[in-house]
Amino acid sequence: MRYALIDWDNTLHRGYTIYGLTDHLLKEGLAGEAILAEFERLRESYKAKEIAYAEYTIRTCEAFAAALEGVPSVDYRACVSTFVPADEPFLFEDVIPVLELLHRYEIEIYLVSGAPAEVLRAYGERLGIKGIFAFELEEREGRLTGRVECNYGAEKERILRHPLFRAPGAIHAVSMGDAVADVPLLDNSLVPIIVGGGGLELRAGSAPLRFFDREWDLAGLERRLAGALQDRTIVSFVNGKSSLHSRSD
Ligand SMILES: [Mg+2]
Repeated sequence: MRYALIDWDNTLHRGYTIYGLTDHLLKEGLAGEAILAEFERLRESYKAKEIAYAEYTIRTCEAFAAALEGVPSVDYRACVSTFVPADEPFLFEDVIPVLELLHRYEIEIYLVSGAPAEVLRAYGERLGIKGIFAFELEEREGRLTGRVECNYGAEKERILRHPLFRAPGAIHAVSMGDAVADVPLLDNSLVPIIVGGGGLELRAGSAPLRFFDREWDLAGLERRLAGALQDRTIVSFVNGKSSLHSRSD
């Protein structure tokens, strides 16, 4: 099995999904205005370096969850389904061709993100996403509790220990990310892709592809991918395993 672990916000999607979704929830009357002041307070604390980036994102998700306490899950989902069509223009233009290229190389695509999971699930089917590890709201008896169920955005290296990705023959072919939180994923993949101009420090010897706002280098990605996967197959063969192993599973 070949897989890609891909970040969402500012990697496949311009800007932070949670803010756009919050505006939509306010418009639909599912959340109160107080959440905007809380977001602003957190942003100011982060800018003033009172809190680190990880804490800023975790607390933003907690504030979002708290603002939705008691909302019926079905209402939240209905709101997300009307949000997604309005949010689609925020996808980077070359997202679909890149994902198609990964599918062509039989690479399963997983999102690893701090964005609200319900939004990613709504996108997932259309984009051919195999699995989503993101920010989940806790639900009990059909209502949101106001708490966070889990948040994969906060500690992305955790996903590398997931049994799915530790299975024999699992090849971490690609990762895409834009931020420090994505570095463990980028450092673990055969082909790392940094989106945007961020100065991320990857492991020594790493030669990441760089995608900026537009015109992602699909031909360059395909060359790197073909080379890396071929090398991996040869290594498997030399190690005495079937060379078909990494091709067929
Ligand atoms: Mg990001």
